[in-house]
Amino acid sequence: MSVLRHRARLGCSERPDRLEEECAVFGVFAPGEDVARMTCFGLQALQHRGQESAGIAVGDGETMMAAKDLGLVTQVFDEATLAALEGFVAVGHVRYSTSGGAASWEAAQPHISAIDDVLIALAHNGTLVNTAALRARLVRDGVQLRAGTDSEAAAKLIGQVTQKTHHLRNGIRHAMEAIEGAYAMVLASPDALYAFRDPNGIRPLCIGELPQGRGWVVSSETCGLDIVGATYVRDVEPGEIVRFNAEGVHSEQGVPAGRRASCIFEYVYFARPDSVIDHQSVYQARRSLGRILAQEAPAEADLVLGVPDSGVPSALGFAAESGISYADGIVKNRYVGRTFIEPTQAMRQLGIRLKLNPLPSVIRGKRLVVIDDSIVRGNTSKKLVQMLRDAGAAEVHLRIVSPEVKWPCFYGIDTDTRDQLIAANMSLDEMNAWIGSDSLAFISLEGLRAAVPDARHQGFCDACFTGDYPVAIPEALAAKSFSTKKDFEDVYAEGAKGADV
Ligand code: SF4
Repeated sequence: MSVLRHRARLGCSERPDRLEEECAVFGVFAPGEDVARMTCFGLQALQHRGQESAGIAVGDGETMMAAKDLGLVTQVFDEATLAALEGFVAVGHVRYSTSGGAASWEAAQPHISAIDDVLIALAHNGTLVNTAALRARLVRDGVQLRAGTDSEAAAKLIGQVTQKTHHLRNGIRHAMEAIEGAYAMVLASPDALYAFRDPNGIRPLCIGELPQGRGWVVSSETCGLDIVGATYVRDVEPGEIVRFNAEGVHSEQGVPAGRRASCIFEYVYFARPDSVIDHQSVYQARRSLGRILAQEAPAEADLVLGVPDSGVPSALGFAAESGISYADGIVKNRYVGRTFIEPTQAMRQLGIRLKLNPLPSVIRGKRLVVIDDSIVRGNTSKKLVQMLRDAGAAEVHLRIVSPEVKWPCFYGIDTDTRDQLIAANMSLDEMNAWIGSDSLAFISLEGLRAAVPDARHQGFCDACFTGDYPVAIPEALAAKSFSTKKDFEDVYAEGAKGADV
């Protein structure tokens, strides 16, 4: 086993004023294929879900080799690194880590651990809510922990039972029985790929097949399948374990499925528009969000603008429904992201202009409807409205295609504490006045649900809008994010509403 370690870099990253994904996973089982290269391309397609570190582990039947580092996929992997990763099974990961503290090489995934003399590599998208209890239990059992991540705790739990039974599936089942929260995981042993998902199916995970039976691919989103030429087959079901090895594909229920609670925000913002989740097109859902919002909150205006990228399909839907022309009035700089190069203080004062720039020739003198995906703290919306007024807009009517974000997420999305969420602390009129828009409206929860038809299963997680958490949040964890006693009472008065653990 060897791990190629590149130069470590320090992350900068101010806390962003929007909800941020915390990871994506990718896995391949394909004898005879360049699985490291395929995983590298898959991770590039999933880069929007995490930009702070990237890693790939490859198994060749006997051992495993891994490379990981801080940075974008293209910064971490080059031809020489990929050429060193030979094998036929691979897992990969991109990470966004602000909620877990500063980016660190140790926390980068896949997490590698040894079960006796067999190496496994685990990659995780999501957040466990009972990590502290799990870690205490592992320490009591004499297990050494180093990385301090959810993935390490899960890998050690898997190792405990696998060591005794010599079957990885038993170890995975044991871990799934113990861990609580949101997880979509891929695991590679030297000769097999495993994919498993939490009993509520909170974070997405899909399966694809390569042409001519060349192998199998697992990805957080279908855009990761597309880039390697795999055909979307289905999603990993809640609580399911799927194994891919030389014997074929084997599926079993690791733990009973609970209340179905797929993250509805994937359709609004997190996922790429060309992805399909649970057989539902993200792009079409965003078009529908705009169309429904136009019915719920019409505005007298000359142009509809979308805040790139996620606001654009919704703006097209709003325009089609309202009859108001759509215009590309805001241009996004695609190459300024979460980088490791600090902007100067003077550049920082440009704020939102580092990423978005208005087109004065399009918007001057016009009454605008501006469609955005969400408002978290409100600072970005305030700057956006000012920027559009500075560019000559006559009026700015802000329309948001998610309901008010009033509650923190504990399931793999980086959110502020409640006292920093603007909608948890201001009325609609107060928000409108503070942001400086001429009018402000959010889509209703019913409107959001109608835009994402619940055809195949029974439900979504919408806890950041409702406080209805599908997996109970331990009070110690909630205490860090709920700012008032009333917050506790809202969630704990009747137990965590709908909790199934
Ligand atoms: S709380 Fe919100 S962001 Fe988090 S999983 Fe639920 S719907 Fe998604």
